[in-house]
Amino acid sequence: MAFKSVNPLTGDLIRRYDTWNEAQIETALSQAAAAAPAWRALDMETRAAHLRRVAEVLRARRDEYAALMTGEMGKLIREARAEIDKCAWVCDYYAEQAADFLADELIETDASRSLVVYQPLGTVLAVMPWNFPFWQVFRFAAPALMAGNTGLLKHASNVPGCALALEGVFREAGIPEGVFRTLMIGADQVGAVIEDPRVHAVTLTGSEPAGRSVAAAAGAQIKKTVLELGGSDPFIILEDADLDLAVEVAVTSRFLNGGQSCIAAKRFIPVEAIAEEFLSRFRAEVENMTCGDPMDEATRLPPLARHDLRDQLHKQVVESIRQGAVAVTGCMPQPGPGAFYQASILDQVRPGMPAYEEELFGPVAIVIRARDETDAVRIANDSVFGLGGSVWTRDSARGERIARQLECGCAFVNGLVKSDPRLPFGGIKHSGYGRELARHGIREFVNAKTLWIR
Ligand code: NAP
Repeated sequence: MAFKSVNPLTGDLIRRYDTWNEAQIETALSQAAAAAPAWRALDMETRAAHLRRVAEVLRARRDEYAALMTGEMGKLIREARAEIDKCAWVCDYYAEQAADFLADELIETDASRSLVVYQPLGTVLAVMPWNFPFWQVFRFAAPALMAGNTGLLKHASNVPGCALALEGVFREAGIPEGVFRTLMIGADQVGAVIEDPRVHAVTLTGSEPAGRSVAAAAGAQIKKTVLELGGSDPFIILEDADLDLAVEVAVTSRFLNGGQSCIAAKRFIPVEAIAEEFLSRFRAEVENMTCGDPMDEATRLPPLARHDLRDQLHKQVVESIRQGAVAVTGCMPQPGPGAFYQASILDQVRPGMPAYEEELFGPVAIVIRARDETDAVRIANDSVFGLGGSVWTRDSARGERIARQLECGCAFVNGLVKSDPRLPFGGIKHSGYGRELARHGIREFVNAKTLWIR
């Protein structure tokens, strides 16, 4: 089998990469195991210095890495550059904060001294998606490595160039050989790696089926997992919302990264009193989102990452329309070689339709109208997913009250749902479990060990 890097703008093959055989996997696993003792023995300051150098490499090669991502999965070049900046930020953030997050905690007991110490688990396997090819990886790698773990990356098959470039970042920064390795393996080879005793924990960011499969394999081996899965975030617009702001952020949130973000607002839930006004203003903005070359700074809507993903999205849209949803705008693939899908709005979405029940991973906004605030919260929580959510109201106390009722890992009031190294990130329900980022993220892959001393 081979990985193919295909430009989603043109459909052209960029390059083929051979997948690894067992001997190559074995070499990487033994390198990770060999590197682990020296890496965990380093003091925090030395590991922090390494991470700061990683951030420097990222900043120095920002344009090159951004162009690589845009070429392989089609994201807008300006969003790609911002993604590299964010990766450098998360490295600096953990270099600065890790010593505090993992400091010994003294606890008064009947011992003369008792405390909790945080120690690395060993080697963590990360199975990652293509939508933020660099950010998703650094979100795992910066805290995992700072905590003293070594890392193995199995990246999505459509971004092999990024997968190898990521390993190159760590190499160029002088991180010791084996501390971070990319495995050029397919999904069908992940199970064997999870079973290997030299792998101690697994983190997966991706779809629900991939999460189930990886968690089952890790569970059978009693290995810790963190799962960051799909979402269908609600965006509740109340009658007292600042509609100018709500519409502006609705467009940003839904269409960022070509609509391929786990925490994009996907279900727009306006209350009856402002539903028509919200929809007509939203529609006017969405109709301005024209498709174009992602390398062009002026483009607002890039192609989707792969043609098969566009086909899958269109199937969900067509089936929802067949069941009674209304295409307000778009809802069609754009003709031509690029994997473009028109910026779309589906109104009158109801339970049972794919658009209601499933994640739509592309530039399609779903509208589900609510009678009032109570109905809006009910609809928001009527989902198997629980990643993020937002509420739009001029009354921030009301917003906070509603945000507390939302069944999700993060709820924002009058703001774009986004990840931030300083705030924990993750979901509940079928959106997964565990947290990345902040203090919570670095504590996922450590042993919180009790010491009791007389
Ligand atoms: P995906 O198809 O699940 O792939 C994700 C990763 O899992 C890839 O490396 C893939 O490898 C691997 N994989 C797939 N099936 C597997 C299996 N049975 N066993 C082992 N590994 C397997 O998801 P995607 O299309 O790349 O990404 C989109 C999804 O990710 C969306 O649902 C999105 O919401 C979610 N996501 C979640 C977050 C979050 O933080 N919660 C962030 C970003 C994206 P191959 O490519 O080789 O198949």
